[in-house]
Amino acid sequence: MRQLYIGGSWTASASGESIEVVNPATEQIIDRVPAGSPDDVERAAQAARKAFPGWSELAPAERGKLLAAAAELLKQRSEEIAKTIATDMGSPVGFALKVQTLMPATVLASYAQLAESHPRESRVGNSMVVKEPVGVVAAITPWNYPLHQIICKVAPALAAGCTVVLKPSEVAPLAAYALTEIFAEVGLPPGVFNLVSGRGPVVGEAMAAHPEVDMVSFTGSTAAGRRVSALAAESVKRVALELGGKSANVILPDADLALAVKVGVANCFVNAGQTCSAWTRMIVHRDQYDEAVRLAVETARGYRVGDPFDETTRIGPLVSATQRDRVIHYINRGQEEGARLVAGGTEPPHERGYYVEPTVFAAVEPGMTIEQEEIFGPVLSLIPYTSEDIAVEIANGTRYGLAGAVWSGTEEHAVAVARRLRTGQVAINGGRFNPLAPFGGYKQSGVGRELGEQGLEEYLETKSMQL
Ligand code: NAD
Repeated sequence: MRQLYIGGSWTASASGESIEVVNPATEQIIDRVPAGSPDDVERAAQAARKAFPGWSELAPAERGKLLAAAAELLKQRSEEIAKTIATDMGSPVGFALKVQTLMPATVLASYAQLAESHPRESRVGNSMVVKEPVGVVAAITPWNYPLHQIICKVAPALAAGCTVVLKPSEVAPLAAYALTEIFAEVGLPPGVFNLVSGRGPVVGEAMAAHPEVDMVSFTGSTAAGRRVSALAAESVKRVALELGGKSANVILPDADLALAVKVGVANCFVNAGQTCSAWTRMIVHRDQYDEAVRLAVETARGYRVGDPFDETTRIGPLVSATQRDRVIHYINRGQEEGARLVAGGTEPPHERGYYVEPTVFAAVEPGMTIEQEEIFGPVLSLIPYTSEDIAVEIANGTRYGLAGAVWSGTEEHAVAVARRLRTGQVAINGGRFNPLAPFGGYKQSGVGRELGEQGLEEYLETKSMQL
């Protein structure tokens, strides 16, 4: 069994219990990690508190050097880490390398630079305004981009001068262990970074409530985020939340329909649909609707579902049996509520592994369950509209606001519609994801922003000194 990492040492959990890690393609147990306890959180929070003065007072350039060395090691180990993620999470191995591993290495390197270059001092009249690290940060992360979500928190927190206690997802925790080895190897001082694996309601809740924790940064479901917020509120901690999404892909009548549908389907199904920012609702003008459905079905049927280690696989298994069952439940619900299943469905494409076929629903009406709730699997809904105002109303008509897309014949028109969307990210005519631009949610998709300079600001307090 693996161990926790607290105060610069690998150590057993006080609980003595473990959590099995399962390969979702084979359904085999591949590893065991400690099921951490509140006592472990206590030790880790104290270690992080003890390390805070030294780390926060270190010159930013010195912190940057250590983070740059970690980014370099991450790149060097990227092939191996990508295989780890393909094995415990099920991402196709090419995607696991490029997006799940090399992208986080880029983000880590960006914070190595920002540690020094981000301005910490300004003047306002007779005041000197300085930015200082928040303190001890509790980071709680999900399984879908297991390394990226960690880096999005840990890199800016360490760059800011904070110390960290991380609880990775218990479902896909192995990349977090590789990252911990890297931080140990580059020589982060003891207690600056601590790893406590375990379950959310035990370890996560103990972290959110702990008096030595100054800030909680959480990524995961809206329900768990709400719980974390409530616990953190007791001691008025700063809270950053990256939660769920139900993002809209608005295709305007003057857009290149074939391209918009093809890219839209790809975006919805990326990482087997287990992407918080996935465009799961394709909103298409009534006059082009039938053609869009035809194109979406054709694209979905062309996707190969299978072994994450086969280079031709486009869609791997879902991460767990629980997640597969949840997605199947939604596919059944869509049919019960009158949506038309036009591709995929509930039949498993393989005998073993938690696979779900890429699934497309037509005749989806605003307000249906599959149109409102985050499914987190390869399920796309096509919704018709009759005017631009109605398209915007449908796009904004959920409790979420994380991402989205607008397609039009002109960038100007697309941007004008994008400005009306109550959401944190919008791709204009397929604009590529930018890992250095702020990312985060409106409404119940979250609070705060990750990535780039804004992501660093989340971990800084502001002090005004009147001269
Ligand atoms: P989850 O909420 O079940 O778990 C996320 C993390 O929170 C895990 O580490 C889990 O152990 C922990 N947790 C669970 N209950 C907790 C509690 N009561 N107190 C403290 N911690 C708790 O989510 P998941 O199933 O791992 O991930 C999928 C969800 O994450 C989806 O809703 C997805 O949209 C969301 N997500 C959001 C973003 C974003 O940036 N907005 C990114 C990735 C995933």
